[in-house]
Amino acid sequence: VQEKRYDVTEELQIVDQSIIDLLKKAGRLADELGYNLYIVGGFVRDLLLERINLDLDLVVEGEGIEFAKTLAHKLNGDLDIYRDFGTAVVDLDNVKLDIATTRIEYYPYTASLPEVEPGSIQQDLFRRDFTINALAIQLNPTAFGQLVDYFNGKKDLEAGVIHLLHNFSLYDDPTRIFRAFRFASRYGYQFYEETERLIKQAIDLDTIEKLSPNRLFGKLKHGLQDENPTSFIRLLVKYDILVYFSDSLVWNQVKEKLVKQVDKIIGWAMKKEQNIEFTPWILYLMTLLEHFTKEEVEKFSKKFNLNSQLKSRIKTSLEIEQIITKLKQAERNSEVYYTLEGLKIEELLFILVKDFSLTEKISLFLEELKEVEIKVSGKDIIDLGYQPGPYFKQILKEVKRAKLDGKIDSTPEEHQFLEKCLQRR
Ligand code: ATP
Repeated sequence: VQEKRYDVTEELQIVDQSIIDLLKKAGRLADELGYNLYIVGGFVRDLLLERINLDLDLVVEGEGIEFAKTLAHKLNGDLDIYRDFGTAVVDLDNVKLDIATTRIEYYPYTASLPEVEPGSIQQDLFRRDFTINALAIQLNPTAFGQLVDYFNGKKDLEAGVIHLLHNFSLYDDPTRIFRAFRFASRYGYQFYEETERLIKQAIDLDTIEKLSPNRLFGKLKHGLQDENPTSFIRLLVKYDILVYFSDSLVWNQVKEKLVKQVDKIIGWAMKKEQNIEFTPWILYLMTLLEHFTKEEVEKFSKKFNLNSQLKSRIKTSLEIEQIITKLKQAERNSEVYYTLEGLKIEELLFILVKDFSLTEKISLFLEELKEVEIKVSGKDIIDLGYQPGPYFKQILKEVKRAKLDGKIDSTPEEHQFLEKCLQRR
């Protein structure tokens, strides 16, 4: 293995000066303590891609925790120490630094927690997943801004290649399969030929089975939350991974189309003037599971220990056809309102995933009808001399319906209409 060094001080200019100053301070302190200090991982990878990534992962060739303590003291930061992992976090006003000792990792068995012992920077980079994530920039003053590259990560970044560092990588940690999919999707990269072979082999040997349901679902979620969920899903399909989530999880043309629709709907929702707050990845999950039966949803939710929120979104996706039929028939505003009332934003958007022709009605609901409220209340009915009872709710609903349909508008009109309803009754 040959160490290559490149000067990346120029590339570092896209990073905020306050961060550079902080890294320089840390580098000076490392010198004082006689350690080599590097920044590694996503920050470096993304910097070379001219992307800002403020995950500041520092590694120290020396005593990482001691270094973190001294740094926190000097910068007046908060310090959290994770002795079991040999790592520490220095929390400053607007950034945090993750600090670790450079180390070697051993995985006693597949998907286990690694055993670690201190190692060199080269060994620390070698324990990582892909060459593009195994780059470091030195921070000590005399070497500040030097990219340290042992495994041709820079070349792979330029070529757009995901390249595993060693043959046992995926047996040690099968979650790397999902990481490979995530990075390939995010950056539009290809797998290095040998890496692709190793991925297929690890999948054939069922390494994914070794992951606990929680970890497995976490990896799916992470991929769906990343920049290109559609491509991530296609990779899950291509490498036959969906089956690990559920036997019932089938893929077909319909699904392919729906996933594309999800991309479109998310774009549509984000462009809306009115701020719509929603959780995009849930739409992809709803799409993946939309053909499930109730039993299959139960089984899936139980296996992956889904929270009730997520479970209820998925359940609604099973009923979406009925909702759509009703919504299509709805002519009056009130009919639109009472079809959609109570649905969560992801559920409303999922209607559009299934049928984009309903945008007008969904927009009408989101932008106008959802906000409609009546001023009259049960108290007004009592004031008119009526005895409280379940019919109050019905009468008030009649008033609201009239308001939704534009038959009444002002508060006096509401009162008049309320009285009329009561008399009619
Ligand atoms: P993202 O941009 O998605 O956060 P990242 O590469 O910064 O990607 P982190 O999970 O923050 O992801 O990891 C930081 C670094 O730690 C990675 O760049 C990689 O070097 C290493 N790493 C993280 N997870 C693994 C893993 N499962 N196996 C090996 N190395 C890993």
